[in-house]
Amino acid sequence: MRRYLALLCSLLMLASAQANEPASSKPIKPASAESAAPAKEERKSSVREAKEAAKEAAAKAKDALAADELAAKIAERLAVIRKDKDEAAARLGPRPVVRSPYAPSLKKAESNKTRVEAAEHTGLASNNHGEVHWSYQGEGGPLNWAKLNPANAKCDSGERQSPIDIRDGIRVDLEPIAFDYKPSRFNVIDNGHTIQVNIGAGNYISVLGHNYELVQFHFHKPSEERVNGKSFEMVAHLVHKDADGRLAVVAVLLERGKAHSLVQAVWNNLPLEKNEAVQPLTALDMNQILPVKRDYYTYMGSLTTPPCSEGVLWLVMKEPVEISADQLAIFSRLYPMNARPLQKISGRLIKESN
Ligand SMILES: [Zn+2]
Repeated sequence: MRRYLALLCSLLMLASAQANEPASSKPIKPASAESAAPAKEERKSSVREAKEAAKEAAAKAKDALAADELAAKIAERLAVIRKDKDEAAARLGPRPVVRSPYAPSLKKAESNKTRVEAAEHTGLASNNHGEVHWSYQGEGGPLNWAKLNPANAKCDSGERQSPIDIRDGIRVDLEPIAFDYKPSRFNVIDNGHTIQVNIGAGNYISVLGHNYELVQFHFHKPSEERVNGKSFEMVAHLVHKDADGRLAVVAVLLERGKAHSLVQAVWNNLPLEKNEAVQPLTALDMNQILPVKRDYYTYMGSLTTPPCSEGVLWLVMKEPVEISADQLAIFSRLYPMNARPLQKISGRLIKESN
């Protein structure tokens, strides 16, 4: 009886193994057909089937072993690939702040340069989905910007980079900058590098026969530019663009003093989350950020953030504007240091209002 049970078990195992592989299975004889046969015949047939079952089980075990070996080999290969990837990442720097499944390859990033720059200039998108994100310190810091992405090559190789220490300017009767600013809607965004204010259309400057429209302004602490070696507490960069996409940046130096109402209006609307714009219902009058005296220094430079594109007309207001210690402290809590180091002047001409 025990033997009979063992044979029945073998049969059941065979049946279940075949049920698991319908494509290669033979039709299973219904159990009811067996029960009608005489006991001896049944036993004979059971022995035969059990032998077949054992043979098939052995073949399956061999297949399973081969599959296990294959799986082990795949796992081994994956481990090697993963290790290579980690080592490559370690060579490039710290873990990326932003990792996107849509991250462009380096080549694609190069071809997308114009689009990325446009986004940077307009401030409408600050994230170029680079593998290692740029910053002001550590592995993503200014000395490595060019290495992070071929699109940032100018950060290293450029000869007309910003900021600079403004000195030895030629004193001339500079044409006044014609400011045509009006109260405008705005939104405030923390883009991970600074606090940026995007301004509604309709604010212009006119200089050297060119019209540029104000797109956005943002802050650096301390001031990126120096004047005769002197650094300021902060600076506001007012980024303008002409119809051909050329940039003119008006820099307003900020020094410690009394509170500034426009700066306060921006601070009042600081976003709680990075890259999520706050859109107040009020308007901002950009005339308020300008100093009373409109004398300025001017030179040709670059963006002070990656991709460090050149051909930027810099207009640095000579007279600083005051902001309070409390207002400085608020920005400092978000960005204690977000200034690019000084760049070589390389014989560039600097002019200044007489
Ligand atoms: Zn700036």
